[in-house]
Amino acid sequence: MNFSAEELQSLAFYQNTYEQIGFWWMRKGYSERLGEKDVRVCRFCSKMKPEVSFSKKAHVVPQSLGNRGLISYYECDTCNEIFGGGIENDLGNWTKPARTMLRVHGQNGIPKLVGKGQSGWRIEGGAKGGLAISAHQDHMPHTVDEEKKAITFDLPRDPYTPAAVMKAFVRIGLTMMPAPELANFDDLMQWIKNPDHSVRTIGGSTIYQTMHPGPLPNDQVQASLLRRAKEEAPFPYMFLVLSFANQAYQIPLTSRDHDAHLQGLNITMPLFPTSTPLDRNTYGHPRTTPIDLSTTTEVRDEKMKIVMRYDHVEDMQSTKGDVGESNNG
Ligand SMILES: [Zn+2]
Repeated sequence: MNFSAEELQSLAFYQNTYEQIGFWWMRKGYSERLGEKDVRVCRFCSKMKPEVSFSKKAHVVPQSLGNRGLISYYECDTCNEIFGGGIENDLGNWTKPARTMLRVHGQNGIPKLVGKGQSGWRIEGGAKGGLAISAHQDHMPHTVDEEKKAITFDLPRDPYTPAAVMKAFVRIGLTMMPAPELANFDDLMQWIKNPDHSVRTIGGSTIYQTMHPGPLPNDQVQASLLRRAKEEAPFPYMFLVLSFANQAYQIPLTSRDHDAHLQGLNITMPLFPTSTPLDRNTYGHPRTTPIDLSTTTEVRDEKMKIVMRYDHVEDMQSTKGDVGESNNG
């Protein structure tokens, strides 16, 4: 792990102020079930058999982000379908350009990106592990800066509602937390189940996204739940930290009771540092940006800018090119 001096300080802050109450590393061959197979009560609607069924695999983290093995026994098929057809679609649309470019395999492989209308370009998983980009010269989804050896993609995002993306992140946290904690999150639970996204949350809606440049495994997901260790400390009660491929997210899970004393306070605190084994002098430093997911109306026709760096270009004698070992940066 390569932590900067500043990140080591952040880590010390978390060691003093928070405790990690859960950690999951969803990688190849990993399999874990949360809850008890014989005691099936849905965490989200409180119903049990025979009123509801439990025959579907309820993925704790959506499969689209790369989770295969972490499944819960306490999400009924009805809630699973409601989340899957609702807020998880918003999360899927919001993350799709990044998942394509980082080659994250979902349920149906790497998601394809297709240009609208006449442009007709496509970006999809390549045969040899890279990305295959097919485009007409006049309608490219990207521009190339040969001097900087950088390709800038302007990729369309399918429609999504920011508040629904936040709900999908919070749903992951609520699924992971130990059952006795749920009583502290009644309000969040009601909020994520409400299909009316115009109803605002009592909780925070700003998440922090950290991009780690360089070639990193894109077939694993890591998640941590961090809970405040001292009740009176002026910091949020709980966070979910979720990482997949080159991205890490820090998501607040607001508890009405345990965060009441923070109302109106301006909180300054470090972010939980995430690290990779890559040498930062070679691949560059991680970059963190706050993302406001409080908007309650649908966002359409948004473009996402992704810059990739390359080592060299080979002429493939056609408009079809393979971007191989590119370093997302
Ligand atoms: Zn349910």
